[in-house]
Amino acid sequence: MTSPLCFNFFLPTEIVFGAGRLSELGARLSPEFRRVLLVTDKNVSSRSPAIDLARRFIGGRDILVFPDVVENPTLDNIEEGSRNAKEFGAQVVLGVGGGSPLDAAKGIALLAENPGPLLRYLKGENPGRNPLPIVCVPTTSGTGSETTPYAVFTDPDARNKLGYSHPGLFPVFSIVDPTLAYSMPEEVALNTGLDVLSHAAESFLSTIASPLNDALALHVIDEVIAHLKAAVGKDPKAMDRMSYAATLAGIAIAQGGTILPHIMGYPLTVFYGVPHGRASAVLLPPVLVFLREKSSVPDKVRALEKHFSAFGGVANFIESFGVPLKLSSYGVREGDIGDYVQKTIVKGDVKITPAVVTESDLFSIYRSAL
Ligand code: NAP
Ligand code: ZN
Repeated sequence: MTSPLCFNFFLPTEIVFGAGRLSELGARLSPEFRRVLLVTDKNVSSRSPAIDLARRFIGGRDILVFPDVVENPTLDNIEEGSRNAKEFGAQVVLGVGGGSPLDAAKGIALLAENPGPLLRYLKGENPGRNPLPIVCVPTTSGTGSETTPYAVFTDPDARNKLGYSHPGLFPVFSIVDPTLAYSMPEEVALNTGLDVLSHAAESFLSTIASPLNDALALHVIDEVIAHLKAAVGKDPKAMDRMSYAATLAGIAIAQGGTILPHIMGYPLTVFYGVPHGRASAVLLPPVLVFLREKSSVPDKVRALEKHFSAFGGVANFIESFGVPLKLSSYGVREGDIGDYVQKTIVKGDVKITPAVVTESDLFSIYRSAL
């Protein structure tokens, strides 16, 4: 484990945060970028003002819009977007939307510069060239993809979600204009807010956490506790704070990564369509119970749980939003668990979870949550 006072902190992304600041988009794009691929999804284009504003502020450049990103973007979705990028001769990829369009923008930027299929890189092959420059404009307050070198893709054939990390996936800059998230439905505000909570908790407990990162993560948890309820109720000031918390939590996972709740939640999304943030948060309480007993950082587990003592624990905090915590309420049956365990045990996040984790541990955690 890294010594507590020996760490790196790498964040090459410029964060431009504040209401109305999407207006700076054109001025911030390097003048040599004349051809911009704008990656988004259909619902964002129709429900949020972000796309019209981005077009208006991009200033005299050629734009091709790729509006076909699906939720939890698939490998095919990225291949299709990258064909568009190549034919258009894109020089920069601008992702506008929730985590799905932002991650798709990252995958498309990678494949625009490197031969496909995408799966070869997800399986460990090094891409020879850096991705195209990436710019992110989030319209949800959750994933923090605007400040991470990560992207997550769905392989429908293998019924699996696969994470990918590359320093070239850090956006050159991200504009976080909280007003762009005001049009989120309450459910999206809640599910993305739960993602923020999981990012903070998991990066805090990770074996590659550092004191600087811990401070960020605990601050994020205080922000979530203070503002998530009102943000779900669509209070603009609280929604601003959740956008702030989401961006900070992105920085925290860019340094500390995520641990078991994220990867154990992937099957809930792939098999039952549970939104990403909710899937991670549902696994957080049973993983904390496991780590209370088995972790190498029991003091940190206690410190984290103490933040939720006013609610009677993190599980009660999550349930107070009407989120069921029993996996069976999402359709999971005991017979499914073996497959989930096989998919989870091979993922990198197991290695930075602060405990020796066996297949049998994963099985017990899932079963305890049934
Ligand atoms: P999302 O899948 O991007 O968006 C969910 C839905 O919210 C969208 O389909 C969209 O339309 C709606 N929506 C988004 N912004 C809106 C707005 N301003 N107004 C109205 N509707 C809006 O959800 P997400 O939770 O932000 O992203 C999840 C993805 O991010 C997952 O694939 C996850 O694995 C990934 N992720 C990436 C990272 C990273 O570091 N790269 C970290 C965590 C998660 P509809 O509601 O109509 O569908
Ligand atoms: Zn997440």
